[in-house]
Amino acid sequence: MPLEAGLLEILACPACHAPLNDRTTAETPELVCTSEECGLAYPVRDDIPVLLVDEARRPA
Ligand SMILES: [Zn+2]
Repeated sequence: MPLEAGLLEILACPACHAPLNDRTTAETPELVCTSEECGLAYPVRDDIPVLLVDEARRPA
């Protein structure tokens, strides 16, 4: 089941509460924080976004 567009609208970064962008690549689906200072990328596992700062990939 793909992520529903309506779901994205209610998703916010748990670190800074900015909206999240769906930035799914071929290999790893991710939800990426739109804040330039934050920019954490959250994994999506089994179509479920894991909105945990501890699980997020930090920007380079
Ligand atoms: Zn953020």
